[in-house]
Amino acid sequence: MPEIEKNETQGRYFPAEIEPKWQARWDADPALYAAEPHSSGKPKFYCLEMLPYPSGQLHIGHVRNYAIGDALARFMWMRGYNVLHPMGWDAFGLPAENAALKNNTPPREWTLKNIAQMKVQMRQLGLSYDWAGTEVTTCLPDYYRWNQWFFLKMVEKGLAYRKSSKVNWCPDCATVLANEQVVGGCCWRHEDTIVEQRELEQWFLRITKYADELLDGLDKMPGWPEKVRTMQRNWIGRSEGAHVDFRVAAMANTPAITVFTTRVDTIFGATSIQLAPEHALVKEWVKTDAALAASVDEMIAQQKAARETGDIGNIEKHGVSTGKHAVNPFNGEMLPIWVANYILADYGTGAIMSVPAHDERDFEFATKYGLPIKRVIAPNLDTDELPLPYTGEEEAVLVDSGEWTGEACLEAQDKMANFAEEHGFGKKTTTYRLKDWGVSRQRYWGTPIPMIYCPEHGVVPVPEKDLPVLLPEKIEITQEGGSPLGKVPEFVNTTCPICGGPARRETDTMDTFVDSSWYFYRYTDAKNSTAPFDSEKANYWFPIDQYIGGVEHAILHLIYSRFWTKVMRDLGLINNDEPAERLFTQGMVIKDGAKMSKSKGNVVSPDDMISRYGTDATRMYALFAAPPDRDLEWQEEGVAGVSRFVARVYRLTSKFAPVVLQVEKGTHGDEIANVAFAAQTPAGEKLIRTLHQTIAKITEDFSGRWHFNTCIAAIMILVNEIQSAEAAMDSGEISPATIAEIFKTLVLLLAPFAPFVAAELWEQMGGTGVLFRQSWPVADAELARESEIEIPVQINGKLVVVVKIAADSDEEAMKTAAMAEEKVTTRIEGKTVVKTIVVKGKMVNLVVK
Ligand SMILES: [Zn+2]
Ligand SMILES: [Zn+2]
Repeated sequence: MPEIEKNETQGRYFPAEIEPKWQARWDADPALYAAEPHSSGKPKFYCLEMLPYPSGQLHIGHVRNYAIGDALARFMWMRGYNVLHPMGWDAFGLPAENAALKNNTPPREWTLKNIAQMKVQMRQLGLSYDWAGTEVTTCLPDYYRWNQWFFLKMVEKGLAYRKSSKVNWCPDCATVLANEQVVGGCCWRHEDTIVEQRELEQWFLRITKYADELLDGLDKMPGWPEKVRTMQRNWIGRSEGAHVDFRVAAMANTPAITVFTTRVDTIFGATSIQLAPEHALVKEWVKTDAALAASVDEMIAQQKAARETGDIGNIEKHGVSTGKHAVNPFNGEMLPIWVANYILADYGTGAIMSVPAHDERDFEFATKYGLPIKRVIAPNLDTDELPLPYTGEEEAVLVDSGEWTGEACLEAQDKMANFAEEHGFGKKTTTYRLKDWGVSRQRYWGTPIPMIYCPEHGVVPVPEKDLPVLLPEKIEITQEGGSPLGKVPEFVNTTCPICGGPARRETDTMDTFVDSSWYFYRYTDAKNSTAPFDSEKANYWFPIDQYIGGVEHAILHLIYSRFWTKVMRDLGLINNDEPAERLFTQGMVIKDGAKMSKSKGNVVSPDDMISRYGTDATRMYALFAAPPDRDLEWQEEGVAGVSRFVARVYRLTSKFAPVVLQVEKGTHGDEIANVAFAAQTPAGEKLIRTLHQTIAKITEDFSGRWHFNTCIAAIMILVNEIQSAEAAMDSGEISPATIAEIFKTLVLLLAPFAPFVAAELWEQMGGTGVLFRQSWPVADAELARESEIEIPVQINGKLVVVVKIAADSDEEAMKTAAMAEEKVTTRIEGKTVVKTIVVKGKMVNLVVK
């Protein structure tokens, strides 16, 4: 670590002295970052960063996330907004249990200790959170009781239900995973652990009830990144189509096979029916057909293997004929019924009609097994030669399709589905990829599900007045044998709320994504002990004006919290349909080209950076090194460079602070307000111009593009100019009033990015009050305007010369200036100017013959 030696030279920058001094002052004022009452009359701004999991250590990715939010919150305060800037802890979850196993520390103790450590780090970073007013810790009963309360409301509304189902099981987590938590067949937390399928009784939340609204809402969210909306659209996976029933031939008592198809218009081209190996009919038929049973078992094994490698879409296709036939209800044709390993029982109806002429997958299968291929659609009726499979639908028409021949495909899809419905063998249907949200987890460190099992009354909800169902604190955590809570008799054994007889509690806890689905509502009223929050408060602050977090939450947290918002709206708790007006997903911080990880040894510690370069330089670097939506390659030399820049700002500002003080006191005679009109030297004028250009750039960027990297670059350019004008400031060539204007504004511009040094310099210049409550400087367009601009002059579209003219020159003046250039006059000599095109402020083009 480089030794920073303190000497007495004035103007040397010592972040290790400045930063703790200001942090202590800020800590002493718990109301410093508090939101104002709704009656303040100011416009509101809810600035939110995703809350962290309390692992115990902030990583540098957190620093980037919070630096963005903090800069925005400070900027909005300076713009006169009433800002809510909260923080909390997503404190339930598996790592606490794993730590308990490893270190024999109770999860609660481990978690609270980590929170305390991280809070120290966050304060060190100077982040402007209203801890006193908003802090939410999801593992504490004052929060999770409301998870339970919402759960009961959902039970009441039929939105929470229990069923036995096949679930994803991670043997390492020893718990169920949601579909969203299975990545390529493996656990999202254990990249190398293959997820198994198990049959369990589970609690589900009926998110599918909102599937259409969740999908359609995405079109009305222009403030969300398109990539996130696309990911959510795909995840919901709505497909419009039809169910069609195929009767099984010569088996009167067998139920018809229902297939789902998005292309009912191709039904005359169906040449077989394909069933999933686990389809109910197949299960029947294998009982009396040993050969079929053997093939089916093999296919089930193949599916399991493919599922486990996450490659089910690319499974090598196999099938076997059942020897039975189904009847195409549109034309009475007999179609052979096959069982195929690429059809999944839990997708659609587990049965498809195979149309090899018009589907890639069916074509491949039919070719392999020699099934007929029958063309029934074509670009037009006269098409003879057509390479198959042909899958067009927009321009295509039906051929060889009986009475439907000649119909356009898209219209036929509609009409044929209606026809099926009228004749009782099908209907229009929409299917979704989205499944209901399984929330049961066989873990200890989560919200207990507030349900009771009575031998007499079955499943009984815990009465609201008995909430919260507290997590027992004394518990031995092991990794086997189901839910840890099941081994705590004081927890499990209870009485039935209806009959008072002995009963058992549910021992599963809720998925921790429940906690983060509504935490940001709780921030608006974090101390409420009688309701999750006060509706009036939530309605004042919502929707969130700016939500900032990682794109990895695009389909888990961000779909669940949209769902939760809609449920709360339907419960009458809030008015908004969506949680956040704008979403920003910042890029990752990487090192040596790779994601940071302990195993790669490329982890950058924020504490290290802060002790070497100070918080301001570390935060500013996180914003400066890349546009915030891109990945950032962390380079320590970069932080050092920003630190040198801050030191330069510090030296210059400290040096001229006495001048600013004198001007403020009026001892210099000329007033700040007169800067614009005072007789300016060219040097002063140039500085003021750059200053106002910088204000304009930063202001604009905050409200739109968020290219903080170029904002900070603009401040660096400004500081370079100030430095080159240092002699002119020393000599009096630049007036004291101008100097005061320059430095006061510079410090205001730095406040969102480097709050410590900005506060220090503000104080040195005699500034009073809290810096980030000062008004943000306003760019004066007149002062920002360049006095001269460069205009390219073209002859017949070819650049001839560039002329410098007054920035406000009109078309006539531009033309005159162009025609006066020698390079122009010599080229048009003896020729005729047939046309002169002048674009004001941009260019002059002469058309010459
Ligand atoms: Zn796992
Ligand atoms: Zn009972």
